[in-house]
Formats: sequence, structure tokens, C-alpha cells
Amino acid sequence: MQLHQAAWPEIEDYLKRSKGIVVPIGSTEQHGPNGLLGTDALCPEIIAREAGDASGILVAPTFNVGNAQHHLSFPGTITLRPSTMIAALQDWIDSLVRHGFERIYFFNGHGGNIPSLQAAFSESYAPWSLRDEACPYVLKSCNWWDLPGVMKTCREIFPVGDGSHATASEVAVTYYAYPDSVKHVEMNPKIAPEGDFTDADNYRKTFADGRIGSDPAQATPEKGEVIVKAARDSLIAEANAFFGANQ
Ligand SMILES: [Zn+2]
Repeated sequence: MQLHQAAWPEIEDYLKRSKGIVVPIGSTEQHGPNGLLGTDALCPEIIAREAGDASGILVAPTFNVGNAQHHLSFPGTITLRPSTMIAALQDWIDSLVRHGFERIYFFNGHGGNIPSLQAAFSESYAPWSLRDEACPYVLKSCNWWDLPGVMKTCREIFPVGDGSHATASEVAVTYYAYPDSVKHVEMNPKIAPEGDFTDADNYRKTFADGRIGSDPAQATPEKGEVIVKAARDSLIAEANAFFGANQ
């Protein structure tokens, strides 16, 4: 069930049977020469959509721009600074809590979002702690690749060159959902360098085409489908366990 494709009476009915919602969250940033700019938002969105359709779990619209300042030297990247992102997340949380949601599961597709997501949770809980009142809701975050069984599936499909940015796995997930967007690009070098970075200028000087440690030319829609199906089933189990907890 998708919130943005439902009418308000359907959400009112849903809240009578569940207080839980999944919020896909990602980023709009360069993903190497053949990866889509929306990859980090699309991966959790694609998996959550399939989970919502298969199980009836409610899925919110995707929070699709995150902390991506280090990718700004590549055209198309859009970022929120941490303070903006934390404030926006608080407003999303407060809006959902106002309607009676008590379990909000942020399903993340971008490692760079994690510090701001954790800070937003802390800001959200702080007023309750400071007033010595019990907070009536619980917030959770999980990266899609950290769902039980998913990384194992990715490593089996891409034993070499999955990498850590513009990974073969994440590009494959987007190609599964958007096969018309598949781009055939020869990677040079075949597997991108590994390493650390600081700001946007440093990143582009270190990783010339945007990839880190990956060979995403291996990505195909068929391989992406295997990953999506594994992640879908895992998300349904994890979300239902979270929604059912303490209720
Ligand atoms: Zn990514």
C-alpha cells in the first residue's frame, strides 16, 4: 500500500489495524558513468514498493534528497546540508505522529544519510526526555543492504567488484525497475580505486568517474531482480516485527 496513491479515508482505516509505516529515504547524487542519479533513493523505493504491494504494509513517499555534498563536483547531484535534513526529517516525523503512527521505519539507501538520520531521531526524542514524559512513538532506520540475507545475495551475484559506491548491486536494482534506463559503458579502470575523501573537490580528484571500488558494468535487470526479491521478503519480515513490537 502506497500512501501517495491512497485517499485519506484509506489511511484512516489503515491506522485502525496498524500504527506502522515504512519511509524510503535516499539521495540524488552521481553514481558513476552508468548509474542513475536517483540510485540511492530508487533502491529503497523499489524494494519498499514491492514489499508494500505484497504485504499491505503502508509505504510513504520517498525522502529522495539527502546529504550528498561530497558528490557536488559531478553534474546533477543535489544535497541538503545536515541541519536542513534534520529539520525536514523532524517535520516528516511530526506529521506522521500527529495522525497516530507509532512505529516509523526509515528504509535507507545512502550511507551518507546515517549521521543526520540518527541526529534527527535524537532531536525528536529530546523534548520528551527533557519533559520527563514517555515518547509515544519509536523510530528505526535500516539500510537496504543490511537487511538479513541481502548482502550475502549481493556477494554471491557479484563476488568481485561490487564495491562501495556506485555498486554493481545497487545499479542492478535500478536496472531491474527501469530496464529502459540501462546504460552500456566501458569502465576504465575496470574496477575503481578504493579510498577515503573529504569534500566535493577532493572526491572528484580521488575518484575521477565517481565510482569507489566497483565495476557496475556487471549490473543487469535480471541480477537486480534476484536482489529485490530477497530484500522485499526480508523487509516484510523486519517491518512486521518492528510494527508488532510493544503494541
Ligand atoms: Zn549508492
